[in-house]
Amino acid sequence: MSSNSTSEQTSNLWCSDCEKKRATQLHPYILCDSCHADRYSMQKMDGKLVPFREVLKDSLKRQGLWFKDGETRGEWHKRMEVEGRGALRRFASGKTSKVGVHKEASRDGEGGA
Ligand SMILES: [Zn+2]
Repeated sequence: MSSNSTSEQTSNLWCSDCEKKRATQLHPYILCDSCHADRYSMQKMDGKLVPFREVLKDSLKRQGLWFKDGETRGEWHKRMEVEGRGALRRFASGKTSKVGVHKEASRDGEGGA
């Protein structure tokens, strides 16, 4: 039942950034999807490219779900599990529509220079 040639979506490699998740991206680096998003995903906001992470941060901030002063990552994580799950899902599913984006000129501006 085991074959190592059938996996198309995920590789057998581990993310080289966090080393905790399977890599889903092999180029330009071996990264899991979240680390890849952290590094490379850009979204157009008000005419300029902003890292996806910043967009998410902004969205979470507006909902009061971003790190609070002195809050550790662990505490924040716990809080996110309780309060943020819905917000994150909402954000993930309604990225391009809804929210407060006025301009939707381009979706994912892949600004490959
Ligand atoms: Zn990773």
